[in-house]
This record gives sequence, structure tokens and C-alpha cells, in this order.
Amino acid sequence: MRLILLGPPGAGKGTQSARLMQRFDIPQLSTGDMLRAAVKAQTPMGLQAQAIMSDGKLVSDEIVVGLIADRVEQPDCAKGFILDGFPRTVAQATALNTILHKKHMDIDAVIELRVDETALLARMEKRVQQTIAAGHPVRSDDNAEAFHSRMEAYREMTAPVSAFYADAGQLHVVDGMANIEEVSASIDAFLKEKIAA
Ligand code: AMP
Repeated sequence: MRLILLGPPGAGKGTQSARLMQRFDIPQLSTGDMLRAAVKAQTPMGLQAQAIMSDGKLVSDEIVVGLIADRVEQPDCAKGFILDGFPRTVAQATALNTILHKKHMDIDAVIELRVDETALLARMEKRVQQTIAAGHPVRSDDNAEAFHSRMEAYREMTAPVSAFYADAGQLHVVDGMANIEEVSASIDAFLKEKIAA
């Protein structure tokens, strides 16, 4: 099962990926996590990405496409994977198709968690409070300023990705404003149909 989860920051992609990962026993490929690991390790790529990420802007297509191209080659991706936070531009979506077609593969489903933008800032603030309460470090882009910039990047660069997959007949939209159990049930029902088809 090769899945893509689309949706703006705070839409619940991470929560759903973690669940689907267990359900299908496939890895979650989050370019955000990969980039944060590179920043932490202070690799040349991490150093390049650090400021861009803190500003809530998008890292270059070249960097993230390179990360994904390498990652899907790993043995744990043989049964499939869940892409979380990638593709974020139409150029990334096109590059992904090229990578997969070379391996005679395709995406099975693209699920967009559609949410009301005004609710997202409140969600982000709640996540920050929970992170602080748990004694964990807060992400450098979890603040109102970076959040607005991430939303802007989403509207300009990532919203067209939904249209790209809708045109390909691959997009399935789920109401991301519902509670977690309802969102999960809705995704599961869709995937059940997909598997049966
Ligand atoms: P995320 O954890 O998915 O919210 O990603 C955190 C940050 O990493 C984003 O705000 C971007 O700066 C960068 N990033 C993650 N994935 C991508 C991507 N596919 N394309 C460009 N930048 C990305």
C-alpha cells in the first residue's frame, strides 16, 4: 500500500500516519522528520535547511526529492509506505511519479485531510502546550509567525498538489475537522473499499 497524506500543518497527518503505519506494517516517510534529523546532526543539508524551516518556508524540491528517492529504495519500503509532508509542490509530485514509474510502481491512494484554516492555529498552540507539559523541546517552526508562513506556503505551493491528484483521479478528501476516531474511521472505510476493488 503506497499512500500519500495531504493537508496543511496541523491537519492531523502525523496522527493518521502513525496509525496507518501500524495497521499496514509499512513505514511513514516524513520529509519534515528527515530534515529535522539532518538539522540535528548538522549535516551540510541540515545546515542549508535550518533557517528555511524555522521561517516556515519550503526547502528546495531538489533536496526533498533526493531524500525520498533514496528512502523508497530501502528494503522496509518494499511493501509500501505512507508519505507525510511530501509532495508539497507539483514539481515534487511529478518527480515522485517519475521515481515510482521507473520501479513500475504507482501510488494507491492520495488522502487529503481538509480542515478549516482558522482552527489550525489553535491546534498548533495546543500542540506547543502539550509538548512543553511533556518536557519535550518545541519545534522552531511552532510559533504564530512561522505558522502563517507555513500556511502561505501551503496555499501557494501545496494546494495545487491536490488538484494534480484530483485530475489524475487519485484524490480522496476526508473531513479533517471531525474528531480523530471519525477521521480514522472514514480513512479506513475508504481504504477497505480500495483494497476490495
Ligand atoms: P513538516 O514536519 O512536514 O511540517 O515540515 C517541516 C518543515 O520542513 C516545512 O515547513 C518545510 O520547511 C520543510 N519541509 C518538509 N517537507 C518538505 C517538502 N516536501 N518540501 C519542502 N519543504 C519541506
